[in-house]
Amino acid sequence: MSNIMYISTRDTKNRVTASQAILKGISQEGGLFVPENIPTIDLDWNVLKNQSYQEIAQKVLSVFLSDFTQEEIRECVTRAYDQKFDDQKIAPLHYLNENIYLLELFHGNTIAFKDMALSILPYLMTTAAKKNKLKEKIAILTATSGDTGKAAMAGFADVDGTKIIVFYPKDGVSNIQRQQMITQPGDNVKVVAIEGNFDDAQTEVKKMFQDQQLKQILLERGYVLSSANSINIGRLVPQIVYYVYAYAQLVKENRIENGRTIDIAVPTGNFGNILAAYYAKKIGVPIGKLICAANRNNVLVDFFNSGQYNAKREFYLTSSPSMDILVSSNLERLIYFLVDEQDQIVNQLMKELSNKGIYQIEKQLLDKSTEFYANQADDAETQATIRKVYEEDHYVMDPHTAVAYTVVNKYRNYSQSTNPTIIAATASPYKFSETVVAALTGEKGHSEVQLMKKLKDLSNVSIPEAVSQIMSQPVLHQSEVMIEDMKQSVLTFLVKE
Ligand SMILES: *Cc1c(COP(=O)(O)O)cnc(C)c1O
Repeated sequence: MSNIMYISTRDTKNRVTASQAILKGISQEGGLFVPENIPTIDLDWNVLKNQSYQEIAQKVLSVFLSDFTQEEIRECVTRAYDQKFDDQKIAPLHYLNENIYLLELFHGNTIAFKDMALSILPYLMTTAAKKNKLKEKIAILTATSGDTGKAAMAGFADVDGTKIIVFYPKDGVSNIQRQQMITQPGDNVKVVAIEGNFDDAQTEVKKMFQDQQLKQILLERGYVLSSANSINIGRLVPQIVYYVYAYAQLVKENRIENGRTIDIAVPTGNFGNILAAYYAKKIGVPIGKLICAANRNNVLVDFFNSGQYNAKREFYLTSSPSMDILVSSNLERLIYFLVDEQDQIVNQLMKELSNKGIYQIEKQLLDKSTEFYANQADDAETQATIRKVYEEDHYVMDPHTAVAYTVVNKYRNYSQSTNPTIIAATASPYKFSETVVAALTGEKGHSEVQLMKKLKDLSNVSIPEAVSQIMSQPVLHQSEVMIEDMKQSVLTFLVKE
């Protein structure tokens, strides 16, 4: 099997193994790691259609994480994708209507799609630490728009040799998301609310990764920093698996002919999930359009239409908070492809983004991204979609998934495409019960417990364990800090042991 190395988008001389890339999270000069070559993988759908999620994960992870042994990967996969998922398919496909399939990515611990990768990341990381004979503890530094935080803590809680600190926007998460985080047990976890939005948190976290002085202090205390955000390839690679699995399931159920082109729609924030679909296409999954769905924070839509990325715009809190992002980190990896892997150009563009909040790529570069279609849905459209899908198809969608569904309809109206389409269903409606119940009934002002009961009656889906007891659990984390004090929180938490 070929050996896949990872290089930085901003300096291709920074070249590391997969396990080193996972440990580092981000390259030292601020670039993101990308595979140096796209690995070749034999996708025989007649074989894959009979394989389990775990078997397909084994196959995909082995080629991308080529310095891990088959045994190591097997151990990680087995421990990650077990009965903590409440569906044994791990990522089941729900047939909705007119060639639309919902790939339900919310059957893990925290009922959002972040579980798909964050269930395995802790195992990949501790295996990588052993492989590289790391002596220090790994300190995971994470910014969250609501879902990564809980999923990362659930994964890393009480994992030997690790500590994790999560920063979330105080006013930018749903009640359930907040409650899930502030009740998280574990001796090695810390949760901090910040006065700011997700972009502020992510920018500050990225700065800390490049802070050489901080790095030195932490090293003396026995820590190295890593990331559980989708900038880590240990997040990205496991996300490719479910697109391969979903296609195999469509073939297996005779929904499509072997080889038929399908489209994929993804509710997008940090551009991580859709980037995984892009990689799935590159390794040979028959994908046509990659439909990038945004909420009112539509910076990516403008980018795909004009080539200009302009983060200097009003920031909106929407009913799909996990997508309330203006600086979509993983777009850098696509840019790297569009500029023909010229690291200096990526470097220049990202400098402009960080200094001026804006950059522009040339028309002929943008033309290389026509496999993407981008559009947006506002809160009113999202609500209407939740209601319409419920009335017509008896399925209760969460607001993020509903943004994607709305955009798929816009795409079909515009293109007249009849391709079968998979929508990444990224969260359980129980995670956003207030919005969903309001969309379905017009009712407001219920308590979270009442909302859950309502949803259960409306959807006929039982209340997931992840949230059933949550409102009565003790609050363990109450820290709140200003952006400029985030570094101090890290220093206070990561003391010498
Ligand atoms: C994180 C998240 C998204 C956005 O995914 P990205 O990989 O950041 O684009 C969408 N929906 C939900 C529910 C999420 O948690």
